[in-house]
Amino acid sequence: MGTESPTLSFPCTSSGTNAGTGRVVFDRYEIGRLLGRGGSAKVYLARDLQSNSHVALKLFSKSSKAPAGTAIAVREISLMRKLRHKHVLRLIEVLASRSKIYLSLELACGGELFTRVESRGRFPEETARKYFRQLISAVRYCHSRGVFHRDLKPENILLDENGDLKIADFGLGALSGGTNPDGLFHTLCGTPAYVAPEVLAKKAYDASKVDVWSCGVILFVLTAGYLPFNHPNLMTMYRKIYRSDFRFPKWISPALRSLICRMLDPNPVTRITVEGVDGITSHPWFLSGIDASEWTSEMRSHEDMFKFEDKSDDEKRALNAFDIISFSAGCDLSPIFDPTVSVRERFFMAEPAETVLKRVEDAVQGEGMRLRSSGEEESKGVLIEGQNGNFVASVEVCCASYGLSMVEVIKGDGSSEKLFWKEKLGPALNRPV
Ligand code: ATP
Ligand code: MG
Repeated sequence: MGTESPTLSFPCTSSGTNAGTGRVVFDRYEIGRLLGRGGSAKVYLARDLQSNSHVALKLFSKSSKAPAGTAIAVREISLMRKLRHKHVLRLIEVLASRSKIYLSLELACGGELFTRVESRGRFPEETARKYFRQLISAVRYCHSRGVFHRDLKPENILLDENGDLKIADFGLGALSGGTNPDGLFHTLCGTPAYVAPEVLAKKAYDASKVDVWSCGVILFVLTAGYLPFNHPNLMTMYRKIYRSDFRFPKWISPALRSLICRMLDPNPVTRITVEGVDGITSHPWFLSGIDASEWTSEMRSHEDMFKFEDKSDDEKRALNAFDIISFSAGCDLSPIFDPTVSVRERFFMAEPAETVLKRVEDAVQGEGMRLRSSGEEESKGVLIEGQNGNFVASVEVCCASYGLSMVEVIKGDGSSEKLFWKEKLGPALNRPV
């Protein structure tokens, strides 16, 4: 669109690439430098030309090469719109073109908490407590709104210009209700080092307990300066997670040890909850220096920062009003709006990657579909396209160990694509359909 603009003065002056700097999108946002890049999106600094304020523009491509992008974007939008909290990154607005979805987000100038830990090594317990209280305040609030993050890790925790914490990246989040009538979740998601054992074991799980586990890993990382569960061999690392096999460095205080042990309890039933008389918010380490009522009123003040309008009953209609569907010609997004439908599935198969991919090839035989190789260095994958070049599914296989493969399938949304999954691809990969 190339609109003339005055010279930019952007905040957040740390390094980054400048591709696209100065470009104006929707006659509204002037794009600045790249702030970060995740698995599904790129995030740019941008200036709102109307208000002259700065935002972060998270850009998802809707290309067939990144079919999951739209699904993740829509999930992120539908969850973030439910949340208004001082320590949850705020979604300002959503814009879309034929090929891209842009999320205008509150700017977190201080970067990732991860970078701080990396550059400093570890935090004193007092500093870690400040961040941890803010994190728990946000997590408690999200859970009270029926939203579970499921991918909490320091890379998804950002800091604003005052050094206050903001939870970001709800692309793997979920709404309460689960995917089964039991109300529990079954989808394997999250980042291995931060994932709870019940998720790895592919058991039905309570998503609030999964977030508590991840917060426990984060608390350990903040105060120890390294991960509690880490090993170059993924299977060994998983074994450590199942057993909650970790060691504290000597400088961690007894009170903090007791809290971390309760959070990293491998049994989700006995694992500590966020609230309650025996919960995290009542734990002596958490409350050190403040009393419980002080803390409760502080938490309430975080929620009241924004006047929240509860539109949850209208969620689907309101989301359509964002006009994303109309911008997504030829792409049926309706299953994505239903958070109980999973378009991405990850699971393990006790076979090497080649065998898994051969199964995919066999399933495609005689279907008039095309296979294209994809995948990065550490994974192998194929993209399955229909006769019209439509996206049918993608399968990525990452070799775990001992002939074990981690498989990630992204399924197409159309009825024929669903049928292909149900009748051919799902059975070929031993998935219950
Ligand atoms: P993932 O690979 O974890 O799924 P993603 O593709 O969903 O990531 P994000 O995690 O939301 O992307 O963003 C990627 C990176 O961009 C973040 O780790 C952070 O460095 C930067 N970033 C994201 N949002 C903002 C923001 N509002 N302000 C500043 N930086 C941001
Ligand atoms: Mg991220």
